Amino acid sequence: MHKSAQFDTPSFMANHTYDGQLGALYTTDQTTFRVWAPTAKAVSLNLYKTGHGNDLIEQLPMTASDKGTFSLTVNGDQNGRYYTYLIHHEKHQVETYDPYAKAAGVNGDRSMVIDLSMTNPVGWDNDTYVSLENPVDAIVYETHIRDLSIHTSSNIKAKGKYLGVVEPNTQTQNGIPTGLSHLKSLGITHVQILPMFDYNSVDESNPLIPQFNWGYDPKNYNVPEGSYATDPFCGETRIKELKTMIKGLHDEGLGVIMDVVYNHTAHSEDSNFNLIVPNYYYRMKGKHFSDASACGNETASERTMMRKFIVDSVKYWANEYHIDGFRFDLMGIHDVETMRQVEREVKAINPNAILYGEGWTGGDSTLDESKRLMKKNISEVPGIGAFNDDFRDAVKGHVFEPEAPAFVNGAIGFENGVKFGIVGGVPHPQVDAATLPYSDLAWALSPSQTVNYVEAHDNLTLWDKLKMTNPRAHESTLISMVKLSNALVLTSQGIPFMQLGMDFLRTKQGEHNSYNLPDAINQIDWSRKEQYVDVFEYHQGLVQLRKTYSCFRLKTKEEITSRLRFLKMPSQSVGYTLDGDDSHGKMYLFFNAKSRTITCKTPEGNYLLLANETAVCATGLMAFKGGSFKLPPHSAYIFVEA
Ligand code: CA
Repeated sequence: MHKSAQFDTPSFMANHTYDGQLGALYTTDQTTFRVWAPTAKAVSLNLYKTGHGNDLIEQLPMTASDKGTFSLTVNGDQNGRYYTYLIHHEKHQVETYDPYAKAAGVNGDRSMVIDLSMTNPVGWDNDTYVSLENPVDAIVYETHIRDLSIHTSSNIKAKGKYLGVVEPNTQTQNGIPTGLSHLKSLGITHVQILPMFDYNSVDESNPLIPQFNWGYDPKNYNVPEGSYATDPFCGETRIKELKTMIKGLHDEGLGVIMDVVYNHTAHSEDSNFNLIVPNYYYRMKGKHFSDASACGNETASERTMMRKFIVDSVKYWANEYHIDGFRFDLMGIHDVETMRQVEREVKAINPNAILYGEGWTGGDSTLDESKRLMKKNISEVPGIGAFNDDFRDAVKGHVFEPEAPAFVNGAIGFENGVKFGIVGGVPHPQVDAATLPYSDLAWALSPSQTVNYVEAHDNLTLWDKLKMTNPRAHESTLISMVKLSNALVLTSQGIPFMQLGMDFLRTKQGEHNSYNLPDAINQIDWSRKEQYVDVFEYHQGLVQLRKTYSCFRLKTKEEITSRLRFLKMPSQSVGYTLDGDDSHGKMYLFFNAKSRTITCKTPEGNYLLLANETAVCATGLMAFKGGSFKLPPHSAYIFVEA
């Protein structure tokens, strides 16, 4: 067994860093298999008829080749051929699937050679990225493939499948749009999809047994998850259907942001990485796996071949699947240099790609914090953003203290954290960053580095959280708090982010970590949208408002400092102005989190009221002559100079 530290010696790196292509390199005439296994004595290639049966065709010795790789070229058209590697170590042999596999059989246990040109849906050659001028022009909506369609009320036929995401013109029994039609009518620009690479926890061979998982347990990074395909046994189907989904979204002008989880793998000791090169791909604490993911291990992105794997994988998804952006799970585990390379390489493919991640970890890492892309270090990679947990918790309360309130639900002293989101996380003379919930400095260089949100798949939904913090509040009060929260999210500088269904008060019955809970908890019940259609329409209005007025989407720190001024306001309320530009006049925004009405004022003039406690309309709800006005409890009022 090789000690982990031996991999970091100059001689190992000089002799065993392979910078070419790995995996099964397909042409119609021949396929070359190449695997990096620098500590193996020998490697054999197993060719199989199917992805799961006892049907070995032959076992072929591979040849020791450049820089720790073993390779073998097999003549003839190998499209659809399943394969594994048999790794001969000093004292034992292990069979495993290819980390670089682009296709796989059921449950991802065997890799498959694939002619990718055969997996393209009609029109794929003309499919392209949804490109916005700047990431702050995006409005991101987080979606899980199964949640979206699995409830009967969706009336989507391909329930729980890639194809269900893009089924056109679906609606509830009473005619309320569901699925794709819902995404379109809400007006969001991008969907961020929970893991759709092949993950471990759902048994793909039993599609008729209802199974649910978020999918944060990676197995094959470059293969789509099989349980979302209509046929998980045929390796080609999941690729075709995922591309069909992406094209269907692109055809409606919706971008696709992929949730990627390179920070850990489902298995540790027995992962394919570790079976092929023991202890190389992970950070180790002596004999044990370091575990900053809190999922059993953490990958060592600082090692050359792990870094290459991450960069190659992201490039592959961007190129082959036309993915518009990436959300990096526990990005605080990855080293800064790897993320710099990710940014450079993805943007060379698509200069408008949107990149952001979680600037934290799930536990301690053996790699020094200064070397990892934690939120506090995000300025070291200006083209990548981070989730703004400072804003999130200042708006609604601490995520791990269910009953703790903050700004919208009645607590005193969170104005500063709310303002930090409003300015998009950049330094602003009127925001004291020293008192934020998690940070002690304004960490973003530009608003495109800040993802503002109050609800994601993790933790309580906003609705469930408000019910915990304000158990005696009337439902109408809680609804006002939801509207106030998202009025803040969608008017703040930065990239706004919402979770599917929060625009009609999504509930998970008080569950906060629903990663493996049944559909009953995780599914979207579209009848709820019928019930709260006014809340949905308010959100629809907010989305339209943001898209209409460029001042909510300022591109630089300098623009924000010069155009955004906070007003003197009572505690538990925030107000500010945004200077207009060629397209519109000055904006006045007021947010009242008190449980009573307050009086505010604007200078005399001619204004349009764009938002009040019941509605949002980008073309104006009514005229206003300026002066004093009443700002109701838990509400946002927005005016623009006519
Ligand atoms: Ca799977």
